Amino acid sequence: MSWKRVLLKLSGEALGHPETGQGIDPDALTSIARQVARIAQLGVEVALVVGGGNLLRGAEFAQGGARRASSDYMGMLGTVINGLALQDAIEGFGVPTRVLTALEIRAVAEPFVRRRALKHLEEGRVVILSGGTGNPFFTTDTAAALRATELGCEVLLKATKVDGVYSADPKKDRRAERFAELTYMDVLAKGLKVMDGTAITLCMENKLPVVVFNLFEEGNMERVVKGEPLGTTIRSGT
Ligand code: UDP
Repeated sequence: MSWKRVLLKLSGEALGHPETGQGIDPDALTSIARQVARIAQLGVEVALVVGGGNLLRGAEFAQGGARRASSDYMGMLGTVINGLALQDAIEGFGVPTRVLTALEIRAVAEPFVRRRALKHLEEGRVVILSGGTGNPFFTTDTAAALRATELGCEVLLKATKVDGVYSADPKKDRRAERFAELTYMDVLAKGLKVMDGTAITLCMENKLPVVVFNLFEEGNMERVVKGEPLGTTIRSGT
């Protein structure tokens, strides 16, 4: 295994209906859960940060007139719904999990406590981190960078619908090229839409490598944790 402890970032859209990215699609959920269970069974310690864009994005909802902070709290609650769905599906493949939330919802999940999260990881449980950072005006990508750093994960694996980071949108521009390697500064300077600036900056400051890969090719998650060159790797320049 190339990586012993990983932070896997799943966008909410990955769980959504294949065409609309909305809601929770049972087949998408099962396919993702199967892949997560597989890498956990290989002995990789997995912390999973789940987004909520399939249910509600605070910035979009606020455009309808709602206050941004309230909308963001709604968005964070959406990530808890996704976390519970993932918990059930991953445990269906025989792998124990815990859902930890940045916002306390004790009836269904433990509050996030760093030391407790570390203990769960050491004991082989998949730790599902929901509720983002617990603060409005942030994203779950930033939560992923933050938790990866504080939990000592060696890499942030960003699962997406495309097989890496491109110079332009590959669906719109046939000349778009995929980058195999990028530096954090490349991402910031070129304005590449990988993660928001706060998340990338946190990764840069903590020298946390990021691998962007396509989740929808089954088996890719296993290939990535085995260190096969896949997708795009973002790290410091040499
Ligand atoms: N959110 C937030 N603070 C956080 C993380 C998330 O307020 O630390 C809210 C925000 O409204 C965001 C929503 O939760 O739009 C869903 O998260 P995100 O958009 O990051 O999900 P993804 O795009 O990964 O599905």
